[in-house]
Amino acid sequence: MSLLTVGTVAFDTIETPHGKAEMVIGGACTYISIAASYFTKNIQLSAVVGDDFPAKELDYLKSRGVDLEGLQIKKGEKSFFWAGRYHTNMNHRDTLVTDLNVLANFDPILPAPYCNAEYVMLGNLTPDIQMQVLDQLKAKPKLVVLDTMNFWMNVAMDSLKKVIAKVDVLTINDEEARQLSGEYALVKAAKVILTMGPKYLVIKKGEHGAMLFHQNKMFYAPALPLELVTDPTGAGDTFAGGFIGYIAKTGDTSYENMKRALIYGSAMASFCVEKFSIDGIKGLTQERIERRVQRFKEMMQVSL
Ligand code: AMP
Repeated sequence: MSLLTVGTVAFDTIETPHGKAEMVIGGACTYISIAASYFTKNIQLSAVVGDDFPAKELDYLKSRGVDLEGLQIKKGEKSFFWAGRYHTNMNHRDTLVTDLNVLANFDPILPAPYCNAEYVMLGNLTPDIQMQVLDQLKAKPKLVVLDTMNFWMNVAMDSLKKVIAKVDVLTINDEEARQLSGEYALVKAAKVILTMGPKYLVIKKGEHGAMLFHQNKMFYAPALPLELVTDPTGAGDTFAGGFIGYIAKTGDTSYENMKRALIYGSAMASFCVEKFSIDGIKGLTQERIERRVQRFKEMMQVSL
């Protein structure tokens, strides 16, 4: 079993009502691969950084079992940089800076073993690059999940729709679902999006949880209510990493198992938001993850 993850490996500067973290480690692929590493060890990473990216952070990824053969390190160039500021309602944030830097010319050449990946997580990235990755795969994967964001809808909607047409699962947030579909009601938006190609749609609703749509079926997983959300950055990516990591571990791509994967993804995201950057998802144990999943289970049970 192998899980290919693609996306940004980046520096972030983040302001939330609880503080500011400057030039910390971020990037969709970073969060995805760390979260997935708690479920499966055969993770292949395809991304690009500049030579400003700290070696010790790459060593940390390696220590989590993430294969970095597909990570390109460009001499004399700067890594992708993103800066964002969250509102008091941390479901809302403003992007202050997106510096593509090294990402602008990224050619995601996959090492040979990556071309037979069984599970593929296309993290938030230029849609053309996501497509280039799909084009290099030799065998049809068991599952391809794609995550994206409003930024790419604004600047590359046509390319994005082409890649969306090729994946099994699309994960986006509620505002992005509205933008992509042109429908406000999420149930209607989901219906429209499911005609665009994906068989499954996950709509992330921040502190209000996540919804899974498939055919005429719908499942809702709440987010764990927390006393303190320090930094929501990467919650969506961490969710995606936990989601596909759980599916890869269990080898079961059925709708019923995706419902369980939604809970595992949500549990991982709940750790992510407790601290700035990747600090909330470093050093977790299986016991802590299972205990948190148990809290979801208790929260969702009712005798009627
Ligand atoms: P999330 O909070 O799940 O949307 O993910 C935030 C992470 O995505 C940050 O660590 C950023 O480095 C990264 N990011 C922000 N904007 C983009 C973008 N346009 N494309 C790819 N990754 C991005």
